[in-house]
Amino acid sequence: MNPVVGVLALQGAFAAHAECVASLGVSVQEVRTPEQLEHVDALVMPGGESSTMSQLLLSSGLFGAIAQRIESGMPTFGTCAGMILLASEVLDGRSDQRSFGAIDISVRRNAFGRQIDSFESSIHTPFGDFHGVFIRAPRIERTGPAVEVIGRLGDEPVLVRQGNVLAASFHPELAGDARLHEYFVTTMTTARKV
Ligand code: GLN
Repeated sequence: MNPVVGVLALQGAFAAHAECVASLGVSVQEVRTPEQLEHVDALVMPGGESSTMSQLLLSSGLFGAIAQRIESGMPTFGTCAGMILLASEVLDGRSDQRSFGAIDISVRRNAFGRQIDSFESSIHTPFGDFHGVFIRAPRIERTGPAVEVIGRLGDEPVLVRQGNVLAASFHPELAGDARLHEYFVTTMTTARKV
């Protein structure tokens, strides 16, 4: 059976992610409530503002629900702010900002510069180059031993995976290229288990 891929739709660039997933012929569900989360097999967390998303996750009751699903193995793909939300350590975060600790990386917010310093550059991966769109992007300053570096910008990790969790410091949904979403859907998600 085909998986249903959820896109966290509280804030940020969720619409472009939903379009990318839909372009692969995969069912998409926007997720704003714990009830909607129950209907998905995998979750994409978009870019946006991680501190705002953290607040909305807590007030919607989604934080605990998502933490539980990740814990039980739900494939999860976080991009930019979504990567910050998945990280085990957030540097330069707001003091009340929470993260799921789902992938053993330390990320520094806005470390590639402010909005004006956003840039585009090629990401090198074993399955080809990607056009990386970086917008006030977080920098991965540390990767734990269980983390696989899949993509690099020069020498720096920008696309990482630990088990069922995939994280990118850039915005693959804005590059008009669904290959990373395809990788997530085809290699990380399986038929609906619940
Ligand atoms: N700087 C943002 C944050 O800290 C992330 C930027 C993005 O998602 N494009 O949440």
